[in-house]
Amino acid sequence: MNIVILTGAGISAESGIKTFRDNGGLWENHRVEEVASPEGFKANPDLVYRFYNDRRRQLLAPELKPNDGHEAIAHLINTLSSKENMTIQLITQNVDNLHERAGAKDVWHMHGELMKMRCQETGEVFESLESFDATTPCPCCQQQGNLRPHIVWFGEHPFYLDKAFSLLALCDLFISIGTSGHVYPAAQFVSMTPDDCHRIEVNLEGTPVSHNFNEHITGAAGVVLPKLVQRILKDIP
Ligand code: NAD
Repeated sequence: MNIVILTGAGISAESGIKTFRDNGGLWENHRVEEVASPEGFKANPDLVYRFYNDRRRQLLAPELKPNDGHEAIAHLINTLSSKENMTIQLITQNVDNLHERAGAKDVWHMHGELMKMRCQETGEVFESLESFDATTPCPCCQQQGNLRPHIVWFGEHPFYLDKAFSLLALCDLFISIGTSGHVYPAAQFVSMTPDDCHRIEVNLEGTPVSHNFNEHITGAAGVVLPKLVQRILKDIP
């Protein structure tokens, strides 16, 4: 059996990280074009560096923790991944590290990671727990101004798409959690699964792609996921 889980900003909402949609299309009070597009970075790099430095600081705050939804998914992955004839893969649109902090390994971050930066000259990627900006010398080329957040901005190509498509093509159970169905290509993942795949959508409300799912679970991820995981583990011998 092959299971694919897709998560979006909704799974981290109960941990205190704001989503886009719940704030009228703003990300922490900024228009997404300002802080999440190559054009925005070119127009005002200081704002963009500051924005991601703030997001990184928020993620490092001791009070910000994975919630019961992240814990449930990590439990499902860790319980099933050692079973024979079973694969379970987690693809996330989230740039936070809460899945990993809950114990999930090998998470496919298709939109990048907040705790990483990238050299625009060489493409090398580095962990970055600290703030950085246009004055920070790049660890590989030593140049200032070459480092950018390792985040996929609007208009850029998401990471690991080939991997995602091959996983979806063989998927028996697809679970989509806290994702709006507005951001492509993730919104079309559900329609790339085989006809006989069981598709579950977990969200507070319906989405533009809800009609592609067999089952809807309406509720907050932290509340409904522990029960869903219990049910799946009971059904799988
Ligand atoms: P989105 O903000 O567009 O939509 C969030 C979805 O989650 C909505 O459909 C909402 O109804 C649902 N939701 C909200 N709270 C929920 C909860 N407690 N339980 C279940 N569902 C809940 O998010 P998106 O579709 O993931 O796309 C936005 C893009 O923004 C992503 O590409 C991501 O990279 C970026 N982003 C990431 C973070 C993060 O890393 N935590 C936060 C904000 C934005």
